[in-house]
Amino acid sequence: MSDTAENTVNLDDAVIPFRIENAAVRGEITRLKASIHEVLKDHDYPAPIARVVAKAVALTSLLGSSIKFKGRLIIQTTTDGPLNMLVVDYHTDGNFKTPGKFRASARFDAVKLSELDETDDASLLGAGQMIITIDQGNDMQNYQGIVALDNIGLEAAAELYFGKSEQMLTQVRLAAEYDTDEKTWNAGGVMVQSIAVEGGSNAELNDEELKELQLADWENARALMLTIKDFELINPKGDSQNLLYQLFHEKGVSCYVPQALEAFCQCSPERIEDMLGQFSQEERVEMAIGNPKKPGFIQVACDFCGKEYEFTAEHFAQ
Ligand SMILES: [Zn+2]
Repeated sequence: MSDTAENTVNLDDAVIPFRIENAAVRGEITRLKASIHEVLKDHDYPAPIARVVAKAVALTSLLGSSIKFKGRLIIQTTTDGPLNMLVVDYHTDGNFKTPGKFRASARFDAVKLSELDETDDASLLGAGQMIITIDQGNDMQNYQGIVALDNIGLEAAAELYFGKSEQMLTQVRLAAEYDTDEKTWNAGGVMVQSIAVEGGSNAELNDEELKELQLADWENARALMLTIKDFELINPKGDSQNLLYQLFHEKGVSCYVPQALEAFCQCSPERIEDMLGQFSQEERVEMAIGNPKKPGFIQVACDFCGKEYEFTAEHFAQ
């Protein structure tokens, strides 16, 4: 790993690509602290909802960090559970010099939530679908992958996505929790994928033997992944590299340049003004008069960051 990159990136909010040495397995590990707190602090989500949002952000950083061009990766779920809509929008410049930036938004049904016994993400989401969109910018066509969510949760959905879209054996672990002492959210995740065995010392092996070797490496990595406890992924005093060494010390693990992660939003008075501009003046007057919080003013809160914008209907009349 280059010293400069390691020195400038705060690993409390970063995703790190890695490779298990002498094994056909690669992966990414992510950890979010200040950045995920920044996203969640302005939303008034109940804890179970916030937890799934944080896990979805962790997942998005695992997927988005492998994008090698300036673009976006969007994970969106629409389901019939209490958490009926979830969007995470991840922006990258396609290199590790600039941070990956994300924002997130969710809609939930408070009544359905109160009726739920289990608050794991599979129960909160319920059934529906997850759409993963990769926006390559410019005039390039978007790539879109759709996974049916059938009470399976985010980890299994991501594994299905890679199995379907890239025929890649993938294992994902995600965790998020509110630290009541520090009064801050922590999230983390790790993903491993099976890749083709390299030639080199295996040059004498035939295709079948190479496949067997790949599968043995995969089974080994998968078994180790299953030993990860949630708190290891989010322990505020722990760090990603230590966790990887603990897990894969038998074979060894190489970490690559980390990418910093940041919360951001793109909303602005101009964008909100454009959005309100699409209504008729009559509708805008009604919105202003009918606003119980501040009659006479149209108030709009950004779905992503919660920032409030305020206009009068007369503002648009000119
Ligand atoms: Zn915003």
